[in-house]
Amino acid sequence: MPAITGVIAREVLDSRGMPTVEVKVHTNQGLTGLIPPEKWASTGHAEALELRDGDPQRYDGRGVLKAVQHVQQIIAPAVIGMDPRQQREVDDRLKKLDGTPQKSKLGANAILGVSLAAAHAGAAVEQIPLFRHIADINQKTFEMIDLSATLPIPAVSRPGFPQFLQRGFEPSMPMPMVNLISGGLHAGGQLDFQDFLMMPVGASSYAEGLEWTVRVFRRLGELLKQAGYESALVADEGGYGPKLKSPREACTLIVSAIEAAGLQPREQVALALDVASSRFYDGQHYLLSGADTAKLTSSQMVDYLADLVAAFPIVSIEDGLAEEDWSGWYELTRRLSRKVWLVGDDLFATNHDRLLRGLEQSVANSVLIKVNQIGTLSETLQTMALARRAGYATIVSARSGETEDTTIADLAVGSNAGQIKIGSITRSERLAKYNQLLRLAPLIPPRKL
Ligand code: PGA
Ligand code: ZN
Repeated sequence: MPAITGVIAREVLDSRGMPTVEVKVHTNQGLTGLIPPEKWASTGHAEALELRDGDPQRYDGRGVLKAVQHVQQIIAPAVIGMDPRQQREVDDRLKKLDGTPQKSKLGANAILGVSLAAAHAGAAVEQIPLFRHIADINQKTFEMIDLSATLPIPAVSRPGFPQFLQRGFEPSMPMPMVNLISGGLHAGGQLDFQDFLMMPVGASSYAEGLEWTVRVFRRLGELLKQAGYESALVADEGGYGPKLKSPREACTLIVSAIEAAGLQPREQVALALDVASSRFYDGQHYLLSGADTAKLTSSQMVDYLADLVAAFPIVSIEDGLAEEDWSGWYELTRRLSRKVWLVGDDLFATNHDRLLRGLEQSVANSVLIKVNQIGTLSETLQTMALARRAGYATIVSARSGETEDTTIADLAVGSNAGQIKIGSITRSERLAKYNQLLRLAPLIPPRKL
């Protein structure tokens, strides 16, 4: 029987030069390795906790040697001998070993590395590509959820673009949501919103969509330059980080770039926003700066977003309201869920129970999926299964601090997620994933709508 024979961890660096945990799992049939995604700037409070050393002598306290030690001394002995194909059993063991709700004892960074490395080992043992192995685990997870207690069917509407929804269990190519302009914590500019993104919704293939993306990105750089902005500065995810005056100005420039690229806004290329609004919410008001400086109530913030939706071809808005503003989210959903995908990132934190609360309260119609928000592959797929049951769209997402690891590309394809969000197309930790998708595309039949 295939079995894990060893687990090795080490401290490596992510795309911000910050430490992260690399894990390798050995099996009695060979070896597999992995660097999990790590380090995030706009952390939601419900996220699983990354363990940092706190030793000011090293990496300003952000070393991960304790997490590495936990993998080698506590986790390794507990999973050695287990069958790496049994993902759920491995993940259950990891969860029990930690025993805390947010994986604060061993560290989500220690646990996730082992969980994902075990998936790689499982695929290697089965001699199938990772995305196929994930597709198998995904189907099993869904069937398990299906047999469980009756789930609430949320009373939310959904906009067009049904191709974004998960259908069936066949692996499929995801629609990319690509960062063009950054603000918030990811850039030094004064834009409050974190991400202005494009989606090549009219492209006939993933490869064509990627070419359109690069074209729009380059035209946008030229337009920024003409408008007197510094376009050489790139933000954390490789997008432009100009000091624009307002979200409206950013959207206007992007629409112009789409047209300059010879493409049709909305029909061929749509816009998406990640507002990441928890950052400028003071518990009662949304504090906008720049040309739109204002102190808005939740209702006024919904008006503000609705005006943007009316003026621009926006099809998706992430974290339009703050992660604890549930009543505001209800109103946002009531007002805009027919027109746009309303995505919960900080709101749901890839957490099954938070998503369930969202379904019960008819909040959002889409969920962002980040493996390190929850800490194991099984729990990630469990949250995705719940979304699928409820008809919520899923977007597999990278973090702002990333590594060259490409696991999430296989996750998006294998889980039939529908969408993927990796950042811009100018930095290698992002390109590693876009390129992995180019490699997988010929293996994947066109998506059935
Ligand atoms: P983060 O950004 O990794 O800094 O949280 C990504 C996002 O908010 O979607
Ligand atoms: Zn986000």
